[in-house]
Amino acid sequence: MLLEIDDISVYYGKIAALKGISVDVAEGEIVALIGANGAGKTTTLKTVSGLRAVTKGAIRLRGQDITRVPGHKRVALGLCQAPEGRGVFPGLTVLENLYMGAYIRKDELKADIDRVFTLFPRLAERKDQAGGTLSGGEQQMLAIGRALMAQPKVLLLDEPSMGLAPKVIQLIFQIIKEINEQGVTVLLVEQNASQALALADRAYVLETGRVVRSATGRELLHDPSVRAAYLGGD
Ligand code: ATP
Repeated sequence: MLLEIDDISVYYGKIAALKGISVDVAEGEIVALIGANGAGKTTTLKTVSGLRAVTKGAIRLRGQDITRVPGHKRVALGLCQAPEGRGVFPGLTVLENLYMGAYIRKDELKADIDRVFTLFPRLAERKDQAGGTLSGGEQQMLAIGRALMAQPKVLLLDEPSMGLAPKVIQLIFQIIKEINEQGVTVLLVEQNASQALALADRAYVLETGRVVRSATGRELLHDPSVRAAYLGGD
């Protein structure tokens, strides 16, 4: 298994946000975490990227225990998160934002900049524009592009569809698929369950800090109880 989240519990003060969550991600997969507000999806992702500490359980990358490895070192090991709320540097240009994503690297970056611009032609057209003046969809593209500059093995995406128009969501999801086809494994958190399940090889349903279901994306997409709870029942 490329990434193993093994029975982790995470607390905010005395409140348990995660109560023993286990999630496996195999090399080459797209895995989605879905669930209602407050189920613990974002906390799971933050714990994998090293922004939250566990009180119990372990996280392993290629069998190596990284539970106590600080976040910036996890980036060097191949885990990279595109932050929730996009988090682009508003005063830096698109190109400067992309270079910031590669701060841990010392090698030649041109090929990776070209790769991001091929995936996102919109960013190429706007490479000298300040990040803060991009549209919501373009900022999401930049956040994903910036994460790719770290050459992740596993890309962690927190609600990439948040706040975007349906057409832009479709484009973002299509590009996530392309990135995956280029060899990047993806762990994705989404409120937009139908799109996420259609994209994901496998998915986990979280409820109040626990995994209550896991199956292939397709199976969950057609499951009546999942449809009723998370897909508006249609
Ligand atoms: P959403 O889709 O609404 O973002 P989520 O599934 O990502 O929800 P989390 O953000 O992981 O859920 O939150 C899990 C639980 O932890 C919630 O009950 C939330 O209120 C709580 N929580 C999250 N962040 C904090 C924090 N910084 N301090 C205290 N409690 C927190």
